[in-house]
Amino acid sequence: MKIYFPGFTSKVFTMSFDDDCDTNGRMVELLKKYKLKATFNLNGNCFAKGERNGPLGVAKFNNTEEEALAMFDNEYCEVASHGYNHECHSKDPTSKAMLDIIHDRVKLEKMFGKIIRGHAVPFGKYTEATNEILKHAGFVYNRTGYLSYNFEMPKNWFEWNPTCSIVDGQSRDIARQFVAEQNPYSDGKLFYAMAHTYEFVEYFPWDKVEEFCSIIAFKDDIWYATNIEIYDYVNAYRSLVFSADCKMAYNPTQIDVLIGTDWGRFTVEAGKTVVFSK
Ligand SMILES: [Zn+2]
Repeated sequence: MKIYFPGFTSKVFTMSFDDDCDTNGRMVELLKKYKLKATFNLNGNCFAKGERNGPLGVAKFNNTEEEALAMFDNEYCEVASHGYNHECHSKDPTSKAMLDIIHDRVKLEKMFGKIIRGHAVPFGKYTEATNEILKHAGFVYNRTGYLSYNFEMPKNWFEWNPTCSIVDGQSRDIARQFVAEQNPYSDGKLFYAMAHTYEFVEYFPWDKVEEFCSIIAFKDDIWYATNIEIYDYVNAYRSLVFSADCKMAYNPTQIDVLIGTDWGRFTVEAGKTVVFSK
């Protein structure tokens, strides 16, 4: 069996950007231009208060809540959590980390009117205890700060290591490598690029970011998704129920799943049973 992503694609690309910096808006414009998708990990208590006290897009200021609401209200963005105050959970007493994690979820859900299920740990470091807190607080994945430099799907959603940082000098080569990757027998390849958009102001200028986007964009065999869309889709695939001889599959989820079998490619529609072969 082989997983296919929507559109019978075999590869998936995603990005995420941490912190409330005002340069996120320029990144959202690039997402729209190149039809890419990304997750923005925000700190609920770090939005600029009141009126903006400086020019937009210089990375010295955080967005106001109104600006963030307007910026991320589109199909290219997922809003996820990054801790209420951007504190280092792995160093904090458990109770303090717990408050910071749950406060962020409550705040972002109220603000955006959406259920927030994704998290990226501030400063990239986590412990077993902080991951347990995240699970109890209703989060379903935790993106870490450890880079994998591979295209594997995460085995543990609470240790979701991105492939590379966009500001890494190799990132455009890694993007070219991913685009060239054929992997006909694989279980789906994932390229996950992360960054902070304030990094694009000085050490990795926007023209390089745009070049990175242009390398990866508009490929027929790549699905462009947010982090939570990948989590939901892969989970649906992993939830398929097979008959003993694997000639039938039942999809108990709400998401249509595409699959490669010995008898060809099939769509196993949400809630339906499909017979691959008699
Ligand atoms: Zn951060």
